[in-house]
Amino acid sequence: MESIAKNLQIIRQSIPENVTLVAVSKTKPISDLQEGYNAGQRIFGENKIQEMVSKYDALPKDIQWHMIGHLQRNKVKYMAHFVDLIHGVDTLKTLKEINKQAKKNNRTIKCLLQVKIAKEETKFGFNFNEIEVLLSTVEFTELKNILIVGFMGMASFTDNQNQLKDEFSSLNSFFQNQKEKPLSENCQLETLSMGMSGDYSLAISKGSTMIRVGSAIFGNRNYN
Ligand SMILES: *Cc1c(COP(=O)(O)O)cnc(C)c1O
Repeated sequence: MESIAKNLQIIRQSIPENVTLVAVSKTKPISDLQEGYNAGQRIFGENKIQEMVSKYDALPKDIQWHMIGHLQRNKVKYMAHFVDLIHGVDTLKTLKEINKQAKKNNRTIKCLLQVKIAKEETKFGFNFNEIEVLLSTVEFTELKNILIVGFMGMASFTDNQNQLKDEFSSLNSFFQNQKEKPLSENCQLETLSMGMSGDYSLAISKGSTMIRVGSAIFGNRNYN
């Protein structure tokens, strides 16, 4: 068996059925994605819009494409006709642009709000309080062509298991809390995207419903 298919099989067997596996294929050639596709994988994650568009054009149309990278607003239009889920939304301005482009394409685009959970200084993401404020503003509730389906978090770059546990747990608690609240129509929380190659088991044990796994499927990346 080819190694990509084998890696996918090993990961699928080790995760619960209700957890969605996003195969992170950034920097990898089309042939690697095709191999994953042939092994049954249908959800792929990319972090650059242009790269995702060219892979979308080249590959079967039943693939669901997830944008997991930081967004450049002026490029949202290039993926608005096909992107299935955008993980890394971290400003209202970006949400408005996604809403605008979704509307042009007669679609509703699903998004996850990126939440800062890492202790290290990170540039991107909302803190918990900012999300609560955002979700209750009229400006947000009026965005009819987006649907917030959950949150995405990136833990610290560390081997410290206790720290990782704390970070994942804190996001899960916040997620469970928000789910209990009455929210606007464009917000239906069901997805918690956390966990990558090195920490997905831990993330799942702390409530993750969606893992983003790259190197454990496709091998190490040369860049990025
Ligand atoms: C690259 C990337 C991943 C996958 O990382 P691996 O360690 O290779 O599994 C997951 N999430 C985001 C946001 C990424 O940019």
